[in-house]
Amino acid sequence: MHTLSTDSVIYDFNKAHAPVKKVKVGDTIEISTYDCFENQIQSEDTEITGIDWNRVNPATGPIYIEGVEPGDVLKVKIEKLEIGDRGVMVVGPDLGVMGHRLEEMKAKMIPIKDGKAVFNEIELPLNPMIGVIGVAPEGEGVSCGTPGAHGGNMDNKMVTEGATLYFPVAVEGALFGLGDFHAAMGDGEVSVSGIEVEGKATVTFEVVKDEGITQPMLENDEVVTQIASAETLDEAVKVATELMINRICRKTGMSVSDVTMLMSAVGQVEVCQVVDPLVTVRFVVPKWLEEKFGVRLIG
Ligand code: CA
Ligand code: ZN
Repeated sequence: MHTLSTDSVIYDFNKAHAPVKKVKVGDTIEISTYDCFENQIQSEDTEITGIDWNRVNPATGPIYIEGVEPGDVLKVKIEKLEIGDRGVMVVGPDLGVMGHRLEEMKAKMIPIKDGKAVFNEIELPLNPMIGVIGVAPEGEGVSCGTPGAHGGNMDNKMVTEGATLYFPVAVEGALFGLGDFHAAMGDGEVSVSGIEVEGKATVTFEVVKDEGITQPMLENDEVVTQIASAETLDEAVKVATELMINRICRKTGMSVSDVTMLMSAVGQVEVCQVVDPLVTVRFVVPKWLEEKFGVRLIG
């Protein structure tokens, strides 16, 4: 199995970055990551305004996957997700949903112990997940703090062990990277941070040909989802919903009116995050529908 250490990080998904690793379709790689502050906050005594803010949201990569071409879909299965034991959260003025009420930046250390995150004395359940995951976009680079059609900072709690992601490939080799793990995060990520933590992800790459997608998709054992990021929640909901409905119409031959009714009955609009430069939602379809249709929606 390949491995990749935190010696190679990027701060934007950018086709100009030279790959630090070349792998083949079907290969598995274990990727180590810093937390989203590049491990600069080691204790609550760290002067938070004094950290290097040019070194936030590092993604480990980029990884070049041989044989993956523009127009393909890169399929990434998250085989395993391991997190460290030093969790940290921050709040601050103008950050997140409550930024207007917060006068100074604060950090809180949240140790991860015995499968729980210890917040003050309260033990919280973990839902380990990957905040930043994506490929190089076609044009200019996109900061790892921003989500988009290429993936990036989607902060989607479904991006976890057992999930499979699909990314539209814009450049040869895809130039994949990931980082920004959370020990736990709720939908919305209202403070602007999850319980930020370093970790290791083991992923396997596959390629899907002749299956154009324009925004990332994700599936797990229960659901198939269309992700979309946009300036506003309204717009993101529209894009995710319409892409999924178009997909189901195309795969099944059903009419737009029927699929719209069907999705209104069993589809879910869910919020990933509302605090990044673009907001992210997912439109979620139960997987048993694929059996009824007799066709897979992606992959
Ligand atoms: Ca994030
Ligand atoms: Zn994060």
